[in-house]
Amino acid sequence: MYKDLKDKVVIITGGNSGIGKATSERFGKEGSKVVINYLDHEEEAEAIVQSIKDSGSDAIAVQGDVSKEEDIMNLIQKAHEAFGRIDIMINNAGFEKPIPTHKTSLEDWSKVIDINLTGAFLGSREAVKYFLDQGIKGQIINTASVHDVIPWPNYVNYAASKGGLKLMMETMSMEYGKYGIRINNVSPGAIVTEHTREKFSDPTTRDETLEMIPLNEIGEADQVANINVFLASEEASYIHGTTIYVDGGMTNYPAFMG
Ligand code: NAD
Repeated sequence: MYKDLKDKVVIITGGNSGIGKATSERFGKEGSKVVINYLDHEEEAEAIVQSIKDSGSDAIAVQGDVSKEEDIMNLIQKAHEAFGRIDIMINNAGFEKPIPTHKTSLEDWSKVIDINLTGAFLGSREAVKYFLDQGIKGQIINTASVHDVIPWPNYVNYAASKGGLKLMMETMSMEYGKYGIRINNVSPGAIVTEHTREKFSDPTTRDETLEMIPLNEIGEADQVANINVFLASEEASYIHGTTIYVDGGMTNYPAFMG
């Protein structure tokens, strides 16, 4: 438990599923006030809100598409109206659909860039504006990916979005560190979620994936959520402008070291 996270207001985009869901629930357990952004599956978002309320903290769910400027502005406004302040912005929403580059349409390219990169840009920009206006030493944490440094066949749009997210975060950290605003990325490796459970239960896919993970384990969403709360806490007060890889050592796998 991180006592300083009690009553902190945290926004989590894509907070109703996978890593975002685990992160929403974990902040709820810390006593934070949780604003769960969701695109669809409202019932999942509302179920998490209820479970956080049942545990004695507070939460709201706000529908919105992170790639739309007006939806991000609405998200910030709703969070402020509900809880009177915002302390932590977690840009977690993401999308992937592997396709060979020569078959990637402009629409395929733009969808992934718009959600993973532009969405995190809009969330970060609006959060920074809010923190500066309110004089809050807030924090931004983006969910990136090991593909911010590992190129991967059929992931041209995804790798470009996450690689861009890494430099976006590093650039912003240089601009806003002087205001006490900490900005970092968390980059997961292979993580089991509702959506990837089936893929990783296929023995061939599982074995091929484990080959590249020195720890020889597929990760769980909770293991990423643990790092999000740690980074947001005072325990991480000197961590800024960096990426924490939650990947079982995948980024050190010899094939990726050149
Ligand atoms: P997920 O599909 O369970 O969650 C993604 C969330 O983003 C969902 O709630 C989805 O509705 C939301 N979303 C998608 N488009 C959106 C939009 N336009 N506006 C608002 N929300 C939107 O997958 P996950 O694995 O939990 O992914 C969470 C993040 O972690 C993503 O950024 C993903 O790229 C990253 N990641 C996941 C893994 C993994 O192995 N699971 C590995 C590396 C990085």
